Amino acid sequence: MITWTAEQQEFRDLMAPLADELNEGHIEWDEKEEFPYDKWKTVQRSGLLAVPFREEWGGRGQSLPTTMYALEGLGYHSRDAGLNFSASTQIVSTGIPLQRFGSKALKDRYLPRILDGSLIGAHAITEPDHGSDATNIRSVAVKDGDDYVINGSKMFISNATIADVFLLYVRTGEPGSPLGISVFLVERDTPGLSVGPNIKKMGLHSSPLAEVFFDNLRVPASNMLGSEGAGFLILDYVMKREILFSFSINLGEMQHRLERVVAYARSREQFGQPIGKFQGVSHKIADMKIAVETARKWLYDTAEKVVANKDSTIDVAATKITVSEANKATALTALQIFGGYGYLTEHGIEKDVRNALAGTIYSGTSEIQRNRIASMLGL
Ligand SMILES: Cc1cc2nc3c(=O)[nH]c(=O)nc-3n(C[C@H](O)[C@H](O)[C@H](O)COP(=O)(O)OP(=O)(O)OC[C@H]3O[C@@H](n4cnc5c(N)ncnc54)[C@H](O)[C@@H]3O)c2cc1C
Repeated sequence: MITWTAEQQEFRDLMAPLADELNEGHIEWDEKEEFPYDKWKTVQRSGLLAVPFREEWGGRGQSLPTTMYALEGLGYHSRDAGLNFSASTQIVSTGIPLQRFGSKALKDRYLPRILDGSLIGAHAITEPDHGSDATNIRSVAVKDGDDYVINGSKMFISNATIADVFLLYVRTGEPGSPLGISVFLVERDTPGLSVGPNIKKMGLHSSPLAEVFFDNLRVPASNMLGSEGAGFLILDYVMKREILFSFSINLGEMQHRLERVVAYARSREQFGQPIGKFQGVSHKIADMKIAVETARKWLYDTAEKVVANKDSTIDVAATKITVSEANKATALTALQIFGGYGYLTEHGIEKDVRNALAGTIYSGTSEIQRNRIASMLGL
């Protein structure tokens, strides 16, 4: 079990003094299905977006586990899972690969504004016909002098309609080859890049999602992250951290949900006693507690392995499955325990269910994670 220092606790509670401001009207925002720019400003002010970045770009230089702990705090204090998801996309899908694989010129130009939140980022891997099968993506970049010319399109891109910069994963080599993909940083207003309208979806309403199109999009070769063909290596690096960071937010959300359900079960009375006294209710809550603590153990144990550079392929996949399934299960349990009130929009319980359902799909579906584990077992 990790023991956190007082300094790490401060990162965990960065959002605590701003929680009321952040959460005001969150149910209405969900109904509006818009990105809450004012709330983004609150996240900016908290300094959370800078936590894992080096000080030379204005970051706060914190380790992987401390960043996870800070993000757990975001999930605990913020009731807007869509906004939380957009923040995680900003930090881990855009800022982290830029810090690790970007040239000094790219970092100097973009990182300070990514980690203070004044530029919003997105990353684009998935295509209409290639989701799980990312090695076969069709969007292609062809070298032309000092530039690459990109054609194709992307689907399901979080933050797309609000993004100022995109990390594009496109093909520069043979389809199916692990060396066939490269990553480019592209500014939104570059001629040849266009973004479709927000696509309506079941949950995570305040985190916009859209298609992105490339029509002879010309990008300087110097905007490439890493070297040509390094895209899969970059994706592997990002996905490990995306799972640890983004699902730490879910851990915080689950911890908050558990506390809310315990308080409700102690105060809501039926048949002359609190409903928590009925074994049919209390056992459900005990299972929630087990789910939350199992998620916590997987997340932080896996983080230790990643930090120690040990092979963590199975651990990361198992963490993704465990936390996303726990988030879904605990959201459904909370709805059941809140009864009819849980089903009403105004209590914010039903939106947790809608939000949690996405977690078993993005960052690699549960099936793909199980495939990974099976193949590591030689199956
Ligand atoms: C809310 C949300 C946000 C997202 N944000 C982004 C983003 O910012 N950037 C981005 O690039 N993408 C994003 N995605 C896309 C996401 O990564 C894909 O949806 C995901 O990879 C699955 O791809 P697909 O939807 O095309 O499903 P498919 O790959 O078509 O899969 C359909 C079903 O078949 C199963 N399946 C597929 N192949 C296998 C197999 N080999 N073995 C067993 N089962 C299999 C899948 O598990 C799934 O159940 C987001 C998705 C969602 C829902």
